[in-house]
Amino acid sequence: MSRTGFYPGSFDPVTYGHLDIITRAARLFDRLVVAVGINHAKPGLLTVEERLKVLEAALAPIRERTECDIQLAKYTCLTVDAARRAGAIAIVRGLRDGADFSYEVRMAHTNAALNSEIETIFLAASPSARMISSSLIRQIAEMGGDIGQFVPMEAAEAVRAALARERGETD
Ligand code: ADP
Repeated sequence: MSRTGFYPGSFDPVTYGHLDIITRAARLFDRLVVAVGINHAKPGLLTVEERLKVLEAALAPIRERTECDIQLAKYTCLTVDAARRAGAIAIVRGLRDGADFSYEVRMAHTNAALNSEIETIFLAASPSARMISSSLIRQIAEMGGDIGQFVPMEAAEAVRAALARERGETD
């Protein structure tokens, strides 16, 4: 039986923390769908297409090292519905700290109430990546800091270009 996992997120931008979760989840499933959730009320910094492009580039070295079939997707519906449509048996989430824990457990209970057949599984963030968050990355970049140690090169470039666009600079 082939087992599919579904890893949803904003990925605005994808970080080494997300890539660590993807690498580890790829050991647990035959197929892993990494899915960008589109929230029209929260447009974010990068467009959804930019997030997918950056993810595609960042996934290339991981795909080379795994037997897992890692696919990319985007969705606008409920996460449990997107996971079901992807044929997933579980939603994968990462846990960094207590704040993630209380939010994520509430989400898992809600999702279980909506569809009890899809489990949520949590992977503890690796110690080296547990302080990384996309929102922190965006803040550091906005203040002119170097984000190169937290995100892959393609993500750093996309963030820089998006910030320049927001400031009305031509790139
Ligand atoms: P969302 O808006 O759904 O929280 P994110 O892109 O911020 O989307 O995060 C997606 C998932 O990845 C969440 O489960 C989050 O806890 C997890 N995650 C984010 N950063 C890290 C990290 N540095 N280490 C481990 N997991 C992480």
